[in-house]
Amino acid sequence: MRRDIYTEDHEAFRETIRAFIESEIVPVYGQWLEAGIVPREFYKKVGELGVFGIEVPEEFGGAGVDSYKYEAVMTEEMARAGVSLGGSSVHIPLCLPYLLAQANDEQKQRWLPAMATGEAMFAIAMTEPGTGSDLAGMRTTAKLTEDGTHYVLNGSKTFITGGVNADRVIVCARTSAPSETDRRFGISLLVVDTTSKGYEVGRKLDKIGLRVSDTAELSFTDVLVPVEDLLGEENQGFYYLGQHLPRERLSIAVGAYAQGAAAIRFAKEYTQERQVFGKPVASFQNSKFELAACKAQVDAMEAVVDRALEAYDKGELTAADAASAKLFCTEAASDVIDRCLQLHGGYGYMNEYPIARLYADNRVNRIYGGTSEVMRSIIAKNMGL
Ligand SMILES: Cc1cc2nc3c(=O)[nH]c(=O)nc-3n(C[C@H](O)[C@H](O)[C@H](O)COP(=O)(O)OP(=O)(O)OC[C@H]3O[C@@H](n4cnc5c(N)ncnc54)[C@H](O)[C@@H]3O)c2cc1C
Repeated sequence: MRRDIYTEDHEAFRETIRAFIESEIVPVYGQWLEAGIVPREFYKKVGELGVFGIEVPEEFGGAGVDSYKYEAVMTEEMARAGVSLGGSSVHIPLCLPYLLAQANDEQKQRWLPAMATGEAMFAIAMTEPGTGSDLAGMRTTAKLTEDGTHYVLNGSKTFITGGVNADRVIVCARTSAPSETDRRFGISLLVVDTTSKGYEVGRKLDKIGLRVSDTAELSFTDVLVPVEDLLGEENQGFYYLGQHLPRERLSIAVGAYAQGAAAIRFAKEYTQERQVFGKPVASFQNSKFELAACKAQVDAMEAVVDRALEAYDKGELTAADAASAKLFCTEAASDVIDRCLQLHGGYGYMNEYPIARLYADNRVNRIYGGTSEVMRSIIAKNMGL
């Protein structure tokens, strides 16, 4: 089926990104994998290309495009090539919407231009060692000083994507106790300068996949955060998370779909080359049927993703829609990638083959941004169950 969500401009952008990946990322990707991180300086190159600034308003140095589709193209092209830009997967897709919607003009002036160029990288810290799915249970606190000029931040976060390279982190912290009727009340968002005294980056976590992504532990000991760095209104942070988590889930759905499509590409190429019993693996009926079944699943994912992208750009993507898209695409992509790995035989288990990395990278899609179980809960609640 012909995709009709992208225009000629999107396709021209796709060509630019594909060429950039081929010339700038593929040749050095092995080094990034070994180091377990994308070099900080590389993000300035991505900034120069204009990629980070696409959705940033023109007055703050961006292109002012009010659409998520260019980001989606970027995600698709990264997956197609079997590479990733590590921690920057949260910089624009997750963090920018908070700044666009909740930052005041003075804050936008301070943060957005550097965000667009890659001079300042952003991350977001919700999860804590003691709580992930149940975010209202977070224990990091931010108490206002007596003179009212600063918050004093104490606590710790874990699994923070981009946590090593980040210059600013949107930290979710309790500024008040939960109210009697609403345990979500009392959380605020602080845009914390990572060079602040008492701010520490702990371990860069050793993961089974997403190996170029710097996922880190963070800790805060009496970190003084100026009140000017409070994002939006005090105590309303949880509602802001609710406002922006659909986009995070959409971006994970797009990534999963693109990984599924990439897996088929890798498996098709591999099975056409690999000879077994004197003929290509692709010539067995089982291989054809497996790839055909995978293609049907990826077509279905594409339909879901495309509808969700259109809905998002129109401002109509609900929390339940996003949960549905994430649940379906991430579960289906896991199945597709597993079947495509199987067609590679033992080579599929070797890290030097992109399908092996895809298998490991994809697994987290069913966990982060809210687990599949949490997605089912959201959908069920929306069904009145
Ligand atoms: C690689 C990676 C990167 C990440 N990046 C970030 C980041 O940048 N920023 C950030 O803030 N967080 C990040 N996370 C955290 C991620 O969002 C959480 O891991 C996720 O939300 C799950 O929380 P948890 O790990 O505490 O699991 P838990 O909440 O402890 O869940 C454990 C199990 O219980 C199940 N469960 C929980 N609640 C229910 C329920 N109500 N009903 C049924 N089952 C339930 C879960 O589905 C899961 O199977 C990242 C995680 C990973 C692995």
